[in-house]
Amino acid sequence: MKTKQLIALLTAVLCLCTVLAACGTKTAPSTASDAAEGFATLGEAMAAAEEHPSQSSTYHSAYVMAFELNGDYWRVAAELNDEQAAALDALDMLDDDYDAKLKELLSPIAVTKCEKLNDLKLTEDEMNALVGKTGEDLLNDGWTSGYGYNLEDKEFYLEKSPFTYFVTFSFEEKLEDSDDFDVEEAIRPMTVKSVAFEGLGDGATEMPEYMEAEDEPSVDYLVLVNKQNKLPEDWEATVELEDAQNTIPEGVELNEDNDYLATDVFRVEKKALEAFRALQADLEAEGIIILLDSTYRSVARQEELWSEFEEEYGLEYTQNTVAVPGTSEHHTGLAIDVCIVKDGVVINENDDMIAEREIFAKIHAKLADYGFILRFPEGGKEITGYDYEPWHFRYVGVEAAREIAAQGVTLEEYLGAVPEAEE
Ligand SMILES: [Zn+2]
Repeated sequence: MKTKQLIALLTAVLCLCTVLAACGTKTAPSTASDAAEGFATLGEAMAAAEEHPSQSSTYHSAYVMAFELNGDYWRVAAELNDEQAAALDALDMLDDDYDAKLKELLSPIAVTKCEKLNDLKLTEDEMNALVGKTGEDLLNDGWTSGYGYNLEDKEFYLEKSPFTYFVTFSFEEKLEDSDDFDVEEAIRPMTVKSVAFEGLGDGATEMPEYMEAEDEPSVDYLVLVNKQNKLPEDWEATVELEDAQNTIPEGVELNEDNDYLATDVFRVEKKALEAFRALQADLEAEGIIILLDSTYRSVARQEELWSEFEEEYGLEYTQNTVAVPGTSEHHTGLAIDVCIVKDGVVINENDDMIAEREIFAKIHAKLADYGFILRFPEGGKEITGYDYEPWHFRYVGVEAAREIAAQGVTLEEYLGAVPEAEE
């Protein structure tokens, strides 16, 4: 018993040590001063930056700050989770308490990476070596205009990210200031006379590359969502939806059964929407009008629908008519149901659309060139789980769409994911 207690105590002490060491720095400190310099939270970094030259940039999913401390230049970056990003978006910059609220929100957030920028600063020798070069040489080497200039003496603040330098030029001609004065064009023919270090520039708080990579949404355009495969858990975090509305052609009269076509805001995945607009324009040139009828639907909305139906019509009816939440392809933002306009009349009832064979044949012939497939073809119910739906298009990208069309298969067959026949 005694031994066990001792081990427990030792473990507790060890844990405490680990926690203490982790505070203050992300890497193991080699000396006491290193430990004091690292920043584990944004609160620690903000406290250190106080009363020192500092700057910060707020991105939707990240906060990046840079500051000078005892001759060192620091960049501290923190990734924000969805909740933190939403809270940050909700802050009003014009609010008197903005700074205090921002500090309260950011302080507890863990730092993703802290780095010293000192090595990126040009040395005296490197600055001297620029004398005699032209402005064009600097621009070619990645220099950009900074935050100010004095045209009379040809003095400019220029930036070589992440720092700003004070650069003087020799140039005979007189320069005139104007609203559209372009620093970069102006310095191009000039010759560098002197370069002096100034401090941190705007580039210091640009989104660091290692975070940008994670910020890029990576949509899986071949995602399979059907009765056997639910929407992937992280789908909502990767998909970028855009709002879209229909333009109702002139002369088309809507009634209470179809005026949603004019008033609803439809949400569609960004690339799918772009492709749909191109398809729509191509068809319109041939006199065929298609409109958005039903697009993205969240899992939560589907759950609401399910309960509404179950309450009203009972479980059995609901099971036959409403897709189980999580299994509708409309959750992806990549599925679009269309309706058509023929002779100035909207056709949006399922049976009426199925009857319009000729028009839909022309539409289907163009789908693949825009990255869409007809998701529920005739006779495919055993594989897709759905009867023929000439109106339901699914974006998969042009390459896959052309292959699927050429092979004449369903998405399940193309992906080798045909469900096993039920006994
Ligand atoms: Zn549909």
